[in-house]
Amino acid sequence: MSDTAIAKVSTTTANTSGKVPITVARGDGIGPEIMDATLRILEAAGARLAIEEIEIGEQVYARGNSAGIEPQAWESLRRTKVFLKAPITTPQGGGVKSLNVTTRKALGLYANIRPCVSYAPYIETKHPQMDVVIVRENEEDLYAGIEHQQSDEVVQCLKVISRPGCEKIIRYAFEYAVQNNRHKVTCFTKDNIMKLTDGLFHKVFDEIGVEYPNIEKEHWIIDIGAAKLADSPEAFDVVVMPNLYGDILSDVAAQIAGSVGLAGSANIGAQCAMFEAIHGSAPRRANQNLANPSGLLLGSVMMLVHIGQSDIAEKVHNAWLRTIEDGIHTYDIFQEGISSQKVGTREFADAVIARLGQRPESLKAVKYNASRSLASVSQARPPARKQLLGVDIFFHWNEDDRNPNVLGKKLEQVTGTVANTQLKMISNRGVKVYPDGFPETFCTDHWRCRFLKTDGSDMTHTEVIELLKAVQAAGLDFIKTEHLCAFDGVKSYSLGQGE
Ligand code: NAD
Repeated sequence: MSDTAIAKVSTTTANTSGKVPITVARGDGIGPEIMDATLRILEAAGARLAIEEIEIGEQVYARGNSAGIEPQAWESLRRTKVFLKAPITTPQGGGVKSLNVTTRKALGLYANIRPCVSYAPYIETKHPQMDVVIVRENEEDLYAGIEHQQSDEVVQCLKVISRPGCEKIIRYAFEYAVQNNRHKVTCFTKDNIMKLTDGLFHKVFDEIGVEYPNIEKEHWIIDIGAAKLADSPEAFDVVVMPNLYGDILSDVAAQIAGSVGLAGSANIGAQCAMFEAIHGSAPRRANQNLANPSGLLLGSVMMLVHIGQSDIAEKVHNAWLRTIEDGIHTYDIFQEGISSQKVGTREFADAVIARLGQRPESLKAVKYNASRSLASVSQARPPARKQLLGVDIFFHWNEDDRNPNVLGKKLEQVTGTVANTQLKMISNRGVKVYPDGFPETFCTDHWRCRFLKTDGSDMTHTEVIELLKAVQAAGLDFIKTEHLCAFDGVKSYSLGQGE
């Protein structure tokens, strides 16, 4: 692996008192209680932290700020670059942006790390051997949030996957495996269907995997991979995947490990990082000293490793394991016959504090190496030779009983004047319907019409504009165009089914 591929950076700097500045938000619902418990444990363990507090969530939304965060709070986050965040309540209804998605994207937090571990026999699970880390891409995919209604009947959401995005997350997964003594990295995609987007993710996984000969590598198609993960999670170690799959499967993995209330999560970027519990603000449980602070506490353990305080991370994590093992449990994991004491949030924190310096006796104790912060970077590549081979023009068309043959003949007639171009095919929802479509195929009012050059030359932008002028003159409602390109001679667009 080249030195430029993974930047070993310290994203945090201790201040003159030796403390590392971090930004803390107490959040909504159970947030303040679990944050209080977490900070008390960190302080008792000797964490060297200089805390700046910011307000986010419900109160900020209520003041009419649709992002749920004020400008001064961003300044704190940019200054400290480390965010320990309690869950917030996202108001229902339109016009409000998810603070989590905004923070991840605005701060470039491309990697979401979610360890999902079972603690049998102390916490009930069907999978006592489970120890899986989900590494989820955090910025791209369908979460790019580019959606449009294009016709009366059809809406679309763009799935955006970039090579730098794939390189950063996949390299991060391999580096995480090396740093944490993991032996295997598995990649989940659906590249049998999405050959370009998921195909790129898989391809980059294969390319980068070669640089890690000591790590076992495997790829699963997401559907059967997800089934296997839910059935036999002990077969997996580190699993890396695009954003949406990772969102869904990390909750599944946390739940089957024992409880979503136990899992912490790290969101890592090249410059900033955010640490949290994976659960939400559980408003019904708020202000009753009931909530389990474990998810946020384990998120804060990941933060301590990130800022170079592995000694404290180890101390806190082992004391927490010992508390779980001693059967001191909050209501959500309490079980008659297994637990010894049902406690509230505050008492649970007291129990962890009382065990600082102790290690678990039967659960596996954790050991954190002297850490280094990882920020994976993508390598710049020379631009490929790009050719424009044709264009897909999309139409909103709802005439003549939606007979594709009528649309096809009409387009051939009106575009016949544009030199050396030809209507190659029309598809509807990806299925070719002209020429030679099946009358059985259901057609919406949204048509993709593919134009290619007939003389082997590249298409020019002028010819694309001429085609558009021709269809406009015929009164056809074009919605958008997509260029059909080849990169370094390889056609880089999907064929219509049946094309
Ligand atoms: P939730 O995770 O808040 O709670 C679901 C249920 O799980 C709760 O009713 C409770 O029984 C249990 N639970 C969750 N965390 C627990 C804990 N620490 N201790 C004990 N029990 C716990 O999910 P929800 O009810 O769907 O969402 C509530 C709010 O949280 C919503 O406004 C949602 O948008 C928000 N949310 C925020 C985040 C975040 O800030 N990261 C994440 C998810 C949901």
